[in-house]
Amino acid sequence: MTNQIQSEQHRICNKCHQTKSLNEFRLNARKSGLRRDCRDCERFYQRQYYNKNRVRLLKRGAEWRKANPEIVKALNQQYYDSNPERRKQQWLDYQKRHPDKVTARAAQYRALKRDAYIADCPQVRAIYKEATRLRQQGLDVHVDHIIPLSKGGEHAWYNLRIIDAKVNLRKSNTMPCKDLLQEVMRCKNKL
Ligand SMILES: [Zn+2]
Repeated sequence: MTNQIQSEQHRICNKCHQTKSLNEFRLNARKSGLRRDCRDCERFYQRQYYNKNRVRLLKRGAEWRKANPEIVKALNQQYYDSNPERRKQQWLDYQKRHPDKVTARAAQYRALKRDAYIADCPQVRAIYKEATRLRQQGLDVHVDHIIPLSKGGEHAWYNLRIIDAKVNLRKSNTMPCKDLLQEVMRCKNKL
């Protein structure tokens, strides 16, 4: 009877003793042929083993990653390349959760392209955070570089201010008035 059931399409799992179809068994990694335990049992025992040895396994994994940075990088890249949809969704979620960080990073990137001095400090981040808060309240504001980046202005808190978007667009890349310019320099030199 058992032999009949354990035909070419089925076999009995040696863990749960259920008769299952062959595609419920994975290939044996060491020997040829299929594993003797079914996928469900394999997963169950793997999880049990993991939970029991979690701390040790996490530590071993961290050590391995530290010793093999090139492989980790390649595997990450592989995952990154093969999951474009997931990547896109993660990026959208991140943008929704951290709009201030996204605009701050974009501004930093623009400054970087102009070879401007960049102060990536809490004050700069706070300004972008505040601008985002105001936008969420419905105000149309921009973070403006008082001395434009294109005129040698720095991406630093003393050269940043929150202004109305329309004013900022009208201002474009013109230099500020003399008083304001002096104020920026005074703040900078106080550091
Ligand atoms: Zn089983």
